[in-house]
Amino acid sequence: MEELLRGLGIGELILKTEDKKKALDILADSIKDCKKCRLHTGRKQVVFGTGNPYARVMFVGEAPGMEEDIKGYPFVGKAGRLLTDILKELGRDRERDVYIANVIKCRPPNNRDPMPDEIKACVPYLDFQVKIISPKVILCVGRFSMYYILNRFDQPKISEVRGKMHISRYGIPAFATYHPAAALRNPSLTDLIREDIKRVFELAETS
Ligand code: URA
Ligand code: SF4
Repeated sequence: MEELLRGLGIGELILKTEDKKKALDILADSIKDCKKCRLHTGRKQVVFGTGNPYARVMFVGEAPGMEEDIKGYPFVGKAGRLLTDILKELGRDRERDVYIANVIKCRPPNNRDPMPDEIKACVPYLDFQVKIISPKVILCVGRFSMYYILNRFDQPKISEVRGKMHISRYGIPAFATYHPAAALRNPSLTDLIREDIKRVFELAETS
């Protein structure tokens, strides 16, 4: 990880700073013109992440959609509003209680699935974010986040992995849940997402 950070030319700065917010700002600034994969051609902006850098809980989604690409923040479209509402129902505030980012920082055309080479190009940024934030618990939101964060090359279904704690590739406890976009199509999933988020906070507060 340290070597990767140095490769970016900002590693020493990030590693030296105790200030998580500042470290994230430096990282965000260093990737705003990233052209490491083809997705740079269609994006309006890099969607880095939002929320509280000192939160005990980190959510990791898939990739920005149209509204995220326009506004520059993750989970601000229709699916994001559902996620924000579920948090509110649980007495949580997305800016105060969570840090939210995506596996992929630029919008894939027509919201298609990210491709393996795009994920490979982009995940070092997520790795730095996790390292800086060092959350107590990670919630993988959707399949692609779960495949990467839980190291599941066998690509299981969310239904097979949700509801129990896993150890992530970072050594940090993690859960996985359905993507709220799936709950927009199938509202019965909303209750399961709420249950999963509740578990995440319970663990974060006791560890
Ligand atoms: N879906 C995601 O996975 N992330 C976003 O930021 C928006 C929609
Ligand atoms: Fe760079 Fe990631 Fe955007 Fe690709 S998706 S251009 S790797 S920031």
